[in-house]
Amino acid sequence: MEIKSCENHIGHALDMFVGNEKDFPIMEKLEEAEKLSTKCDYCEEQAEYIVGNK
Ligand SMILES: [Zn+2]
Repeated sequence: MEIKSCENHIGHALDMFVGNEKDFPIMEKLEEAEKLSTKCDYCEEQAEYIVGNK
């Protein structure tokens, strides 16, 4: 599971991840180039972070 999230939704993204995966989330900042082509999973903003477990 991977969640893309903006600054505003990162708390929600982490909660969702832990709820679904029962595992510690690893949060990474997206590269500038990736941000431009990646949207937040919860709104229309550009994603800032990606949450995953690897
Ligand atoms: Zn968002």
